[in-house]
Amino acid sequence: MARHTYVADVTLFDGLRVRRRQGVLFEGDRIAWVGSHVRAPRAAGTARAVEGSGRTLTPGLVDCHVHLNFDGSPDFAAEAAELNLALATIKATVNLRKHLAAGVTTVRDLGGLGTCELAVAIERGVMPGPRLVAAGRALTVTGGHGHSVAFAREVDGADAVRRAVREEIKAGARAIKVVATGGVLTPGIGATFTAFTPEEIGAAVDEAHSWGRGVAAHAIGAEGVTGSVRAGVDSVEHCVQLTRPTAALMAERGTFRGPTLSAAFGMLEHPAEVPDYAVEKISSVVDDAERAQALALRAKVRHVCSTDAGTPFNPHGGAPHELARLVAWGMRPLDAMVAATSSGAELLRVPDVGRVRQGALADLALYDANPVDDIGALQRPRTVWRGGEVVAGRTPR
Ligand SMILES: [Zn+2]
Repeated sequence: MARHTYVADVTLFDGLRVRRRQGVLFEGDRIAWVGSHVRAPRAAGTARAVEGSGRTLTPGLVDCHVHLNFDGSPDFAAEAAELNLALATIKATVNLRKHLAAGVTTVRDLGGLGTCELAVAIERGVMPGPRLVAAGRALTVTGGHGHSVAFAREVDGADAVRRAVREEIKAGARAIKVVATGGVLTPGIGATFTAFTPEEIGAAVDEAHSWGRGVAAHAIGAEGVTGSVRAGVDSVEHCVQLTRPTAALMAERGTFRGPTLSAAFGMLEHPAEVPDYAVEKISSVVDDAERAQALALRAKVRHVCSTDAGTPFNPHGGAPHELARLVAWGMRPLDAMVAATSSGAELLRVPDVGRVRQGALADLALYDANPVDDIGALQRPRTVWRGGEVVAGRTPR
């Protein structure tokens, strides 16, 4: 018999807006009914009741950028050097649970080992975890950012890029990651260096889209950011050096921006422990990042929650912190919540999550306060459901 649960008389953030005195009924893994509590259907009366009064129900959060193979230790390159498939998989298994505990029910891994296989294991119920959209291995140019890490593959030329996209999809990738510029955590390459040519990124986008997969571009430098947007990527991760015309183009095209502030602050707040080259690189662009954020918000660029979890001092399950940081940098809490729910689901092409509506998956989180009033409320989810099952927090009453 299907499990029925009814959350009664709750403040609901449905992924787009807040409504008061709502009722949400779920049966099995899907939401069966949403509406005014006083109009609850008969089935609500026989369902397991959850008191919603004074509490807020939201969709489970979506983190669009994580690295499950990494724990957030101070030296990313050293952690990468000791990775093998078994260790990478075990770390990912442990890290996945941290997302659930934080109210995150869907994640996208943007560069990992064994992650496509883990996604299948979770989907089949072999192991618990948030829904996992895995990019498999990231694509980088020869000698480019991430080249020394096993989760990236070096590829040059439009035809070779196209083939690499096909190979990752064949291996189970549900998204494609291109490393369009240099990066902070690879020694010996500037963070803002332009890596792939427009033709190479264009080939990745064209091929991935023809297979129904979205493309995430890692891009820090202005030329790489603009080139990625023009090539039609679905999200720009980091997106640190942003010009006004490119911000306008992102808004016009609906390109999502994932600022990954947790990655930046994890390093900036621990300069003594993180390798000098990384601290120097992130310090040199943090002002650009703050300017980009202001520019993007003014231009009404759509945002997602991208933590880049796994980078130094950026542990898994940090989506609530990322959202608090976005708000501290000028985003309205309501927009931060939209970013972390409906926008993330749209970017990841998982339309059954990110919204509380009839027919959607019952991936939900209940809070004692309303995160749209106080984003800090996200730090302590009371109960987290995934597909109608309680996966973290207290058993609801
Ligand atoms: Zn990353």
